[in-house]
Formats: sequence, structure tokens, C-alpha cells
Amino acid sequence: MVLARQLYTLQELDAQVQQAQQALASLEVRLSDDGVVRQAREEVARARGQAEALRVQQRALELDIEECAEKIAASERRMYGGRVTNPKELVGIQEEVKLLKRRKAGLEDQVLGVMEQVEASQAALGQAAEQARAVEQKWQAEHQQFLQEKAQVASQLAETQQEYARLEQTITLKELELYRSLRSTRGGIAVARVERGICRACGIALPQHVVQRARSGQELVRCTSCNRILFAE
Ligand SMILES: [Zn+2]
Repeated sequence: MVLARQLYTLQELDAQVQQAQQALASLEVRLSDDGVVRQAREEVARARGQAEALRVQQRALELDIEECAEKIAASERRMYGGRVTNPKELVGIQEEVKLLKRRKAGLEDQVLGVMEQVEASQAALGQAAEQARAVEQKWQAEHQQFLQEKAQVASQLAETQQEYARLEQTITLKELELYRSLRSTRGGIAVARVERGICRACGIALPQHVVQRARSGQELVRCTSCNRILFAE
């Protein structure tokens, strides 16, 4: 193989390696990003906490109502039990029962309101859980796809690297050094294609004799303007 072509191929392989490594890095970032799933789970936890707090509130009100009912029953037993005969005391108990009944009615109104909220919070929790399941499913599917892509890119990269190593062995150290130094100082392009007598890297029209020398492939010919190695077919 003509040396300029070898170096040009090496450059193409270098670009492929770089592309594959970038693709792997970006896949790695996407694979480790489970932000949407965590957010959906946090939403479920928040909804569950709200529903739980409302149920606790409902239970507390129900206990208060029971307590009221027991007090009312106890007072009424005293009132109709026949043991209390003092009219003043009886009126006092009657007043107490009236107050307790009013309090109980107020608590019952409150508990109805809270029960409505409990129902709404259960519905919200169900919705959040449904949403989280959907988000997780989608994420899992994407994750699997990313893993497949990663395996593909990694195996492609290994192949390219092997090809690179084989090609590298056929090129002398001196030429490799020239290639690498040009690559690092000229924006990653050490070898420029010549098309219609023009250096594709810098766009200059090359003298005819330079193009011919490059085409012959007997030696490494450099662009008269950008100094890159010329590759002419
Ligand atoms: Zn040039």
C-alpha cells in the first residue's frame, strides 16, 4: 500500500476510534441517568405521605366522635337513671349533653370533609403510581436499548483498534511521529486528500508537479500551503 494511503487510512481509523469513544461516553451518561424514575418515585412517596396523613386525621376525628358519643351516653344514663334527683343538677347534665351533641355534630361535619380529602388523595396516589410505572417501563426499555448500543459500539471499537494496531505496525516510527505531530497541530487532520488539484484541507490549488508527485506515491509529499501530507488517488 502506498504510504500516504496508509496514513490516510490510519487517520480514518483514528477518527472512528474517537467517535466510538465519544459515543460510549455519552451512552454511559445516559445509562447512569435515572432522574426521571427517581422523580416519579418521589412523587408517589409524596402522594402516599399525604394520603397517610389524611387517614390519620380521619381516624383521630372518629375517635373524638366515639369519645363524645360515650360521654353523651354516660350523661344520659345519669339523667334517666333515677339516682340524680336534684333539679339543678339535672339541668346541668342536660346542658352538658346539649354541648356534647353540638360538638359531636361539628366533628361529624369535619370528618366528612376529611373523608372526601382522603378519597381524593387515594385517587392522586393511584395516578402517581400509574405514572411511575409507565415512566419506569419506558426507562427500562430505553436502558436495554442503550446497553445493546453500548455493546455494539464497544465491539466495533475493539475491531477498529485491532485494525489500527495492525496498520500501525506497517508504518515506520518516523512517519508515525510526523503523522501524530501534524494531527495534533492541525486540527486532527494530518493527511489531506487532493481532489482536482486542490488540497481538501486548506483549499489551496496545488502546483501540477506536486500533485503528480503525490499521485505517484513514491514519497510523502506535503501541501505547499498547510504542510499536511497529501493523499492523491
Ligand atoms: Zn493544504
